[in-house]
Amino acid sequence: MKKLHVFNFYEGYQAELLRDILAREGINCVLRNVQLTAAVGEIPFVECCPELWVIDNEAWPRAKMFVDAWFKKDAVAPSWTCPQCREALEGHFGACWRCGTIRAEG
Ligand SMILES: [Zn+2]
Repeated sequence: MKKLHVFNFYEGYQAELLRDILAREGINCVLRNVQLTAAVGEIPFVECCPELWVIDNEAWPRAKMFVDAWFKKDAVAPSWTCPQCREALEGHFGACWRCGTIRAEG
C-alpha cells in the first residue's frame, strides 16, 4: 500500500470523490483520517487531513496521473454548471458536490 495524496482540510470533500473515481478505473484506494474531519477543533489540525492510499502499489503510477490531472484541472477551470442537477459550481470543484457528476473537459 502506498500513499497517493494528502488532502488539506478544505479538500476533504474531494477525497471520497477521488476514491470513487479511481475505483471506477479499477484502482482500489482507502481513505485515512477522513472520519476525523467532523472533529476539527478538538484534535491537532494536521491529523484531520484526509489521506488517500493506493492498495496495489503497481497501480500507483496510474492513480497518480488521475490525481495530478484532477488538481491541474481545478487550478485553471472557470466556474461551471452541473449538467446533471444544474448545481452552480466554482472552478475548484472537479466534480459536482451534490450528485458526483464529473466535470466535462472544455
Ligand atoms: Zn450535480
